Amino acid sequence: GKFVYSFNEGSKEMRTLLGGKGANLAEMTKIGLPVPFGFTVTTEACNRYYNEDCQIAEDVVEQIFEKLFELENVTDKIFGDVSNPLLVSVRSGSVFSMPGMMDTILNLGLNDETTAALAEQTENESFAYDSYRRFIQMFGNVVLEIPKSKFEDILNKKKKDKKYKSDLELETKELKEIIASYKKMIKKEIGKDFTQEPKEQLMEAIMAVFRSWNNERAVLYRQLNGISSGLGTAVNVQAMVFGNRGNDSGTGVAFTRSPITGETGIFGEFLTNAQGEDVVSGIRTPQPISEMAELFPDVYKEFLRISKLLEEHFTDMQNIEFTVEKNKLFLLQSRNAKRTAEAAVKIAVDMEAEDLIDKKTAVTMLEPGQISQLLHPRFEAEDLKNTVKLTKGLPASPGAVTGRICFTAQAAEKAAEKGEKVILTRTETSPEDLAGMVAAEGILTARGGITSHAAVVARSMGRCCIVGCSEMKVDEIRKTVTIGNIVLTEEDALSLDGTTGIVYKGVVNTVTPELSGNFETIMKWADEIRDLKIRANADNSQEAKIALHFGAEGIGLCRTEQMFLKENRIYIIRRMLLTDNEDKIREALLQLLPFQKKEFKAIYEVMQDRPVTIRLLDLSLHEFLPKTREELLRLSEQMSVSYERLSERIKELHELNPTLGYRGCRLAVIYPDIAAMQAEAIILAAIELKREKNMEVSPEIMIPMIASANELAFIKKIVVETIDRCFKKENITLNYSIGTMIEVPRAALTADEIAKEAEFFSFGTNDLTQMVFGLSRSDSSKIIREYQEKRILENDPFETIDKNGVGKLVHMAVDLGKSVRPNMKMGICGEQSSDPQTVEFCHRAGLNYISCPPYRISLARLAAAQAVV
Ligand code: ADP
Ligand code: MG
Ligand code: MG
Repeated sequence: GKFVYSFNEGSKEMRTLLGGKGANLAEMTKIGLPVPFGFTVTTEACNRYYNEDCQIAEDVVEQIFEKLFELENVTDKIFGDVSNPLLVSVRSGSVFSMPGMMDTILNLGLNDETTAALAEQTENESFAYDSYRRFIQMFGNVVLEIPKSKFEDILNKKKKDKKYKSDLELETKELKEIIASYKKMIKKEIGKDFTQEPKEQLMEAIMAVFRSWNNERAVLYRQLNGISSGLGTAVNVQAMVFGNRGNDSGTGVAFTRSPITGETGIFGEFLTNAQGEDVVSGIRTPQPISEMAELFPDVYKEFLRISKLLEEHFTDMQNIEFTVEKNKLFLLQSRNAKRTAEAAVKIAVDMEAEDLIDKKTAVTMLEPGQISQLLHPRFEAEDLKNTVKLTKGLPASPGAVTGRICFTAQAAEKAAEKGEKVILTRTETSPEDLAGMVAAEGILTARGGITSHAAVVARSMGRCCIVGCSEMKVDEIRKTVTIGNIVLTEEDALSLDGTTGIVYKGVVNTVTPELSGNFETIMKWADEIRDLKIRANADNSQEAKIALHFGAEGIGLCRTEQMFLKENRIYIIRRMLLTDNEDKIREALLQLLPFQKKEFKAIYEVMQDRPVTIRLLDLSLHEFLPKTREELLRLSEQMSVSYERLSERIKELHELNPTLGYRGCRLAVIYPDIAAMQAEAIILAAIELKREKNMEVSPEIMIPMIASANELAFIKKIVVETIDRCFKKENITLNYSIGTMIEVPRAALTADEIAKEAEFFSFGTNDLTQMVFGLSRSDSSKIIREYQEKRILENDPFETIDKNGVGKLVHMAVDLGKSVRPNMKMGICGEQSSDPQTVEFCHRAGLNYISCPPYRISLARLAAAQAVV
């Protein structure tokens, strides 16, 4: 196989093999831009390196030296030569750019002799020894893994002794002394001399770049950005050009537009007499790029021409790295630039207007994940700089909020009543905390995953939420939060960034973003392109309003659990569950009916003629049961049943494995009156609106946790009989449909039988994933993270649908369902639903709609359009 490509053998299409940097260097070479020549060792070579005991195979070594020989010919220099030495940079480059995450070595090939040769050849001693000094430092750090500080200490000491402010003031003699100290220090650190053998330097450097693929920074960056660890990095070996040859040289970084606002026009920084990372490393304050116009007028003109050309060629805003050597311009990198969400929106709309791209492309230029940045307040960047980062958890729901710590839902409610802003801080949350969650600005938990109770509820309410902060210990009794050796109490304030998962100490100022007209434009284009309908998961009329504001076309999941839990209604349901008297059960439920009817009515009124899917009660029995002694005592008083009798009953109801116990439709099978009451509330609400406002509502009634057609038929009969009774009593009829969630694997496997009873399917991919993997949806985030680190799992299946497993069941259920009802309506309502990869899957699988939390609707609209493109 071929494992090494010269820059003139590749192209931008070869990213996977050559990495982004290598592919683009090849592309720029191809279109005739001034790129120093070089070659790329492929990502496949990197993967081989990892598979073959971290060694570079013989044949790869051979190919590297063949290409090195070619490079010598092209540059007319010789690697390691003592009169005309070839020097190279060894640069990492993965498929997706991970700026600054991996390591680069410059000036490789220098040793005592070649440095002397370079000095003589360029008639510039201080330049040659400056380059050597830099090389030893980079090689020492990246390859020999000696901390940067050991080098900096030596350098700084020399500067201090000489009272120099800048590296530029160092004279050749002093540079030589520094080099000698570096070498001495290295010998002490590794017990060996710094290698003088260029070929050894090269191979060591290539291996170090391969290794850097798995350094801590890179691993974390990949996790945060969902980049697979199996991709590997390529290594680029490129002839050096020198920006540190004097005041007619320099180096810079530029963007073809502003990455912050998207404003058109070159944006960037430049340093004369400098090399490589000097611009970004903050050693010296760089000059604004516009100053190049005076210092290097011709080069600048050429640079403007090329940057325009690059933008047109890659049809996207570019981030360009370049060097000027003796008034000659060289390009060292160009890539599609990272940008803020606002900039992304403006640039996409501008480029369409400039006829650089069409609308479809414009829609793909916005990362769906960035949309949340546009909708939620953000921390002020300046203020963040002076703030202590406490810890990091899973970013469960976006937003940037500040508040005082509260340890209980009650405390949060009380504080909120007084107008105080609080962060509900708990080990984990339970349904009873709901009111506290509503009252809080943000929710922070030590345990739980992205689909835990806290996370799901927070997202549906648009509350900022961070879960699974495993470094944090919450002691709800003593009322303390401990993170390392920091202990916080109710007196302290926290700030949560729900987009990154970072928890800050104290108060941080926020700024509210304004939605631009450009954003509206992009969303309009997205709507024209997409096929999937976007519905919302909304449990009440407020959420429905927000959903509508963001462009929801219906409600795909209205959960009714809150209607049983809100205020003190949980006591009604507890009374019901703990009695065995049927009349008492019905009596309890009748108390709930008017509440539910009212809430359904309010939702229908908001949604008007848009479809609304209401799911019948889906809670585990155990979530309703009292947990503490106080709760039980209170209940025994209310029910006038003895404490002993009640505890007895609770013991009877106790389940060893509640997630596989009395849940969803099983509760309705045992207590048919629950389903009947809900059906009545759903239909009566619609009837009343028809009478009062002449509104035609066609409710979609959804039955959860179905595993078999018989089970569905049983509950459906209750629902249909109830509805028929209502129609008869009210002397009116209206359209409605009954469907089911597909969330138990057996339902997917027997979807044809189930489709005979169900008029629609909604894929509940949270439970489906939980059951297909046999992995708890609420507290497996630790396992999943381990698995991702060990490359057993690529994605968190609760964030992105598992296409091969869960997805296969979805495909199967779609086909089986359509074999019985060809036009059956199908959607998805799991937490994965707005994840872009999942949206694409749903589009391909032929679903009709996706349903997601209100604040994710814009994102879903965009992702659905991108799925088509
Ligand atoms: P990163 O991926 O962190 O940006 P790069 O591989 O792009 O790392 O290298 C960082 C910088 O080093 C480049 O921006 C450039 O200034 C400098 N550099 C890399 N290769 C060369 C070269 N062949 N000649 C001169 N400078 C180089
Ligand atoms: Mg770079
Ligand atoms: Mg479920």
